[in-house]
Amino acid sequence: MALRNIVTEGDPILRKQCKPVGEVTERIQMILDDMVETMRDAEGVGLAAPQVGIMRRMFVAEPEPERVYCFVDPEIVTLEGEQESLEGCLSVPGMTGTVMRPERIRIRGLDRYGKMQEYDFEGMDAIVMCHEFDHLEGVLYIDKAVEMHDMNE
Ligand code: ZN
Repeated sequence: MALRNIVTEGDPILRKQCKPVGEVTERIQMILDDMVETMRDAEGVGLAAPQVGIMRRMFVAEPEPERVYCFVDPEIVTLEGEQESLEGCLSVPGMTGTVMRPERIRIRGLDRYGKMQEYDFEGMDAIVMCHEFDHLEGVLYIDKAVEMHDMNE
């Protein structure tokens, strides 16, 4: 496994819609493993492929230590409710912002082994999944934030 460079805001890579992965090959698994390692190294709870310069629809998340998800070609099946979330992003260092997110989501997609998985998430988990999913569409949380906070102020 290897750490990958995290792309930061201002790089056009973060603003493009990603292409489907299709098949979970060994190469894709290697990238997912690198993404998990990179996310942990940066002390993040999620990381999407475009954040490491790969324009493919996949992300990893670890909303709680040792609870890791890999989603390849994810689809959001349902969204329900609303909650306020305070978010940061590894691609927008030094900032946090308040964002309105769904309270619950159902999401499905392939896992690290190419098997279809479907999960219901709520609370913090739902926030993380929505945030990472947005990256695949070229959307950053700062686009949706109702308030931004500079952590250095
Ligand atoms: Zn992010």
